[in-house]
Parts: sequence; C-alpha cells; structure tokens
Amino acid sequence: MTERRLSGVGATPLSGVGTAVWYAPDAELGSPPDPETIDADVERERFETARDAAREEIRAERERTAARLGEAEAEVFDAHVQFLDDPQITEGVEAAIDDGLPAEHAVDRTFEQFIEQFEGMEGRMAERADDLRDVRDRLVRALGGDERADLGSLPEGSVVLAERLTPSDTAQLDPERVAGFATVTGGRTSHAAIFARSLALPAIVGVGTALRNVADGTDVVVDGRDGTLLVDPDEETRGETAGEEAVEVRDGTVETADGAPIEVAANVGTEADLASAVERGADGIGLFRTEFLFLDRESPPGEDEQYETYREALETFPDGRVVVRTLDIGGDKPVAYLDLPDEENPFLGERGIRRSLGPDADLFETQLRALLRAAGEEAGGELSVMLPLVATVDEVRQARETVESVAADLESEGVSGALPEFGVMIETPATAFLADALVEHVDFFSIGTNDLVQYVMAAERGNDRVAALGDYRQPAVLRAIHTTVAAAQGTDVWVGMCGEMAGDPDVTELLVGLGLDELSMSAVAVPQVKRAVSETTVADARELAARALAASTKREVDCLLTGTTR
Ligand code: PEP
Ligand code: MG
Repeated sequence: MTERRLSGVGATPLSGVGTAVWYAPDAELGSPPDPETIDADVERERFETARDAAREEIRAERERTAARLGEAEAEVFDAHVQFLDDPQITEGVEAAIDDGLPAEHAVDRTFEQFIEQFEGMEGRMAERADDLRDVRDRLVRALGGDERADLGSLPEGSVVLAERLTPSDTAQLDPERVAGFATVTGGRTSHAAIFARSLALPAIVGVGTALRNVADGTDVVVDGRDGTLLVDPDEETRGETAGEEAVEVRDGTVETADGAPIEVAANVGTEADLASAVERGADGIGLFRTEFLFLDRESPPGEDEQYETYREALETFPDGRVVVRTLDIGGDKPVAYLDLPDEENPFLGERGIRRSLGPDADLFETQLRALLRAAGEEAGGELSVMLPLVATVDEVRQARETVESVAADLESEGVSGALPEFGVMIETPATAFLADALVEHVDFFSIGTNDLVQYVMAAERGNDRVAALGDYRQPAVLRAIHTTVAAAQGTDVWVGMCGEMAGDPDVTELLVGLGLDELSMSAVAVPQVKRAVSETTVADARELAARALAASTKREVDCLLTGTTR
C-alpha cells in the first residue's frame, strides 16, 4: 500500500497513529407504515415519553461533561434542551403525526427542515445544525428503544472516522483508548474541534468526502498540527509521528537556544482548565476569560464568589503571573440576564470594555473589588488585570480611574486590596495604531489575534467562507503585531499574545522574532510551544520575522514558514 495524504483543518496541535473505525450514529428509519394504521394519540404519547427520556439523558450528559471538561463545554447541552422544548419544533412534530406519520418519522421530517435552515446560514449558526442532529438522533433512538453505538469502549488505538461528530459523540471519546478522529465536515470552531482541544485529542475536521474512501481497519496517522490525515503511512512516517507524541512537559520558564526567556502561559475559563494548565507545564495564566463565570446562570456571580475563584487561580500559580481579563460580554458571547441590545452587527457593537464603562458599570466595579481583594492577599501569584476590546485612550484612562477609585474605597473600608498590574488587549486595529500612545497608560499589552484578525481583515471569526482571509498569517496582521511590539520597545511595557496564533508551534519562531515576551494558549499546546521556543535562536527568529514583515502576500508568508520556495 502506498501512503496517501488527505487534508482538512487541524483542530489540535497533536498527532496520533491508529486504526480507522467508522462511526455511523444515524438511526436508520425504514419507510413509514400506512397512515391508516397510525393512532395519532398513541404516537403523541410516544413522542412525549421519548422527549422526557431524552431530557433526562441530556441532563446526565451535561453533568458528566461539566465534571470532565468544564462548564463552558457543558453549556452546549443547554442548547439541546432548548431545541427539545422549542415550540416550533414540537408543533412541527405534532402536525406530522396528524398527517399520519409515526412519531420517529415525524421527528425525522421536522428536524430535517430545521437542519436545512441552519445549514443555509453562516459560521456558528451553521454549526447549530449538528446540535439539531444530535437531538434528533437521541429522540429517534429513544422512540426505537435503540442503544447508541458505543464510542466510549472502542478498541485501544482507534482513530474514529465520521461524517460529523456531535457534541455528545465527542464527549464520549476516551483519550486513553482513542488515538484521534477525523471528520468529513466541521470547522475549527465546531464543537467537535473545541472538545478535541479540551480532551487533548489529535483531530482533523472538514476533510471532505475523500475521507469516505478510507476503509475500516486501515492504518492512519492523524496530524492535527497541519490538518493532514495520512492513510497507510509508511514505517518512517509512523515512527516520526509516534516520536511526536512524546513532547516532554517542561516546568519552569523556557529560553531560546541563545538564552532569551519567553513566558509560555495558558488560557483558562474554568477550574478544569486550571488543572490542565498545571499538568502541561504552563508558567502562569495569560488569559482568564472571566465571562465563563457569568454564563449559564440566572444572575451574575457576586463579589465573594468571584474573589474565591480569582484566589484559586492565584494559588494555583504561586510563582507565576495570572492575567485576568475583565468581563468580555457582547459580540458572540451573550448573557441572558444582562438584557443585551438587539444589534445588527454585535461584533461592532456594545462589547467588552464598552459595556463595562456603560450599562455594566456596576458589574465592572464588583469584579474589580473582587480582583483587588484577591491581589491583596499575601500568598499566590501576581495578578494582572486586562481590559478587552479597547479602542481609545480615553477608555483606558476611565477604566484606570475606576480601578483607582475601587482601591481607595477598599482602603477606606479597611479591606486589604492591592493595585494589580494593568494592561489592555490589542484586538482592534485602533489599539495597534495607538500602541505608542497607550504605553504611557499600561503595564502590558496582550495581542488577541482572534479578534484582531477579524477586525484587521474584515473577516468574521468562525465564518468558514472567509477563513482564508481571517488567517493570522496574513501580512496585514503581522504588520499590526509588529507596530504594537515596536511601540513598546524601549519602555517597561511587556507584550504578550493570547489569541489562537500564540498556540501554533509553526509560528512560534516568527513570534519570538517579532519580539513577543509572552505567549498564552490553550493548555494542550504548551509543551509544543515550549519546545519550539527552545529550538530557535533570537538571531534566526529575527531574520525570519524581518522576511515575513517584508512579504506582501499570505502565500509568501506560508512559504517562509514552511521553508518552501514560491
Ligand atoms: C482574542 O480575541 O484573540 C482573544 C483571545 O479573546 P476571545 O477569543 O476571548 O475573544
Ligand atoms: Mg477577543
């Protein structure tokens, strides 16, 4: 057999070797029986019973996922319950039963209509189609009394191949037994990809229909670093990949081969993320997305609850830095109880710091009180407070005044508090252009490439149709990063990066060359990025960065990064 390569989108920077196992979860429905034989009352009752059973299952799955992967990942199951209880869907199923269909066919027909609608939409809305499929399959299984194909006890070394994996499919995968997965559909922000990162599972999504030609039992290598699926790999490739798996976890700061230290930190949102950051040798927390504390509840967490959480993060990294970002709500991160405005383009609307200095001023103050109190305790790492979606110097001034007035209040109350390090995210073109003015007002910058790319390139994050434009290898993005770093040079302001780009080991050398002091990423990427730092020298990295900054097309940048010629 000769080796073949299929390409998709790498979901995790990990690779795995194993044996292909096809997974086909869709329950097969035969043709519907004669409508004359259908008793609509009985079918309605069967549908109700199946709905109750499905609701119970989803609840249990949510609990398991929250315990295993954290709250943020578990939230998708709340959306499943909403679909299950959606009046339009329920009415659709009941109408189909009245048309003479048995409950399972009625469910199938109704859900298919909604799935098609969602598939016609863009970005994250399109991914909702997978959630609907998940709920449909669960209901059809409940109606037929069928067991789900068991993904939890696959033979060791399996590589799961599937058309798509729904959230509940992915949550069942056991990284001890499964070497990875590859799917026909899906993008980097699909739930399957997000879960794969949390589970530290090698994964490729969006391989396309060519995947269907890979037979069960074939040897495959899933290389999530560059999105390649190797089919029937030769011995040499297998060996190389097996070696790749054992990336050593390094505790403590890493240096380049010529002795420049680079801080490699983790992005966290949940308690489970904190544990995984420690396990993978992160030097600290470079981005604590605090909005996760505010999601999936009826009212915001109070000061004491937040204080406890921030203390836990500081105690987890007693010798490190813990960068806590203040609430970043709006855009694609809605919170039901906050009564967010109905905006035509929420990514350009009232988001992040705009809300904290406006309608959410009270929440901002409460959060700052909790943060300053947490920073005031003796033990624990160093707290840094970071503002999201800044666009003007005035926003930074105003937020800083709020921090100072909160500190003064705490002092007058006799509560111990401390002024933490203070920084801003560079995720709008405005802040990259204004970086030389902002250095006077902050202690650090952290470049959020996820948003910076979307705003520099006018390419919505999560929208697959503009994925090539919304890529951090675009020359315009590299120049925005360079402008930011250059503004901080010669000052005391340090510059980090906490967007997805920081966790891509293929661009670590470039980022070192561009002059980043700190890189923060999902914990799974920490060992590889630490290794990539230690394998470069500042001199080589700077030469690469100079050439990349001279490039005028993404293709040129890609060639420089892969060492190929144009
Ligand atoms: C970013 O925009 O790069 C970032 C890290 O923030 P978030 O992904 O939470 O918007
Ligand atoms: Mg952002």
